[in-house]
Amino acid sequence: MATIILNKNNFFNNLDIISKSTKTRDKIALVLKDNAYGHGLLEVASMAKEYGISKAVVCSCKEAKLVDDFFEYILVLGEIPTSKSDKIRYTINDIKSIDKFPIGTKVELKVDTGMHRNGISMSELEEAFIKTKEAGLLLEAVFTHHSSADELTSEWFWQKENFKKVKEKSRMLAHELGLGALRFHSSNSASLFRLTNFDEDMTRVGIAAYGCLELPKALQVDGLKPVLSLWATRLSSRAVKAGERVGYGGDYVAHRDCVISNYNFGYGDGFLRACANGYVTPEGVELLGRISMDNSTFATSKEKLLVFNDARVVAKYAKTIGYEVLTALKEKIKREIV
Ligand SMILES: *Cc1c(COP(=O)(O)O)cnc(C)c1O
Repeated sequence: MATIILNKNNFFNNLDIISKSTKTRDKIALVLKDNAYGHGLLEVASMAKEYGISKAVVCSCKEAKLVDDFFEYILVLGEIPTSKSDKIRYTINDIKSIDKFPIGTKVELKVDTGMHRNGISMSELEEAFIKTKEAGLLLEAVFTHHSSADELTSEWFWQKENFKKVKEKSRMLAHELGLGALRFHSSNSASLFRLTNFDEDMTRVGIAAYGCLELPKALQVDGLKPVLSLWATRLSSRAVKAGERVGYGGDYVAHRDCVISNYNFGYGDGFLRACANGYVTPEGVELLGRISMDNSTFATSKEKLLVFNDARVVAKYAKTIGYEVLTALKEKIKREIV
């Protein structure tokens, strides 16, 4: 199997850059969903704690429990809990779900300001506040998510405007209903870096911390470095003659006599099969033919092969995004922090 190497210096470098925007580490909530974007949930949680990050965002209750010891605050985005917890906050994604939360649960209300994926609609705000109170839930925060912060359209501005209205109305409702002060948050990685004066209570950053943020030139952020690299070990080598075919379906035809080697990872480990025939490693080694379940063939005989150190490059070959390349990497792959 392949090995994933996590570069702690690069991770801390990225968190330094993010802290410059938030002005304090306290306002960084690191997004750890999907095995910390494939990096390894516990590995990233431990590095984040060492750096001084106290907040985390996850998708499921299971993820929240696994990282409970590392953080002071955890926000679960995508599940309704069966029991309440002191440290863990849960997201209300739908007005109809409010009565499904256990009494006394700390909740954060997600408001749809234009993405139309999760969250209550803006017109349901008052009803949601009242229902939350009636259900005996502790409403701590109101938040939203941007659909297009990484694109040069007006959408990001519209959602910001909408959220401003949501904030004003929420403060008013909290006052009327005698709730405590609410927290507000809206920024993912791309949105955080578009703001010149970040003034919210928290930012939910994922991809920037992992160093694979991709933005149009005009929005470019300098200095972020990819944290994850994937290394493979050679299983076997062989000489092939010009004209011989390699791998399933014989998709690759050797155009000259050469030595090729087989490495111990494939799509079964989460390396996207769409990279077949044409992907070139950072050291210029060509991937030959189709990727098998546990095997891939490269035009080299190196013992240790660097497969990639920037998911965005792989994503280009696979016609996808860095997020998918990273989260595809299976949990079973060994992770090492250097
Ligand atoms: C995944 C996610 C984020 C993090 O987004 P990045 O682009 O990786 O920074 C933030 N907020 C929500 C609600 C998310 O689902």
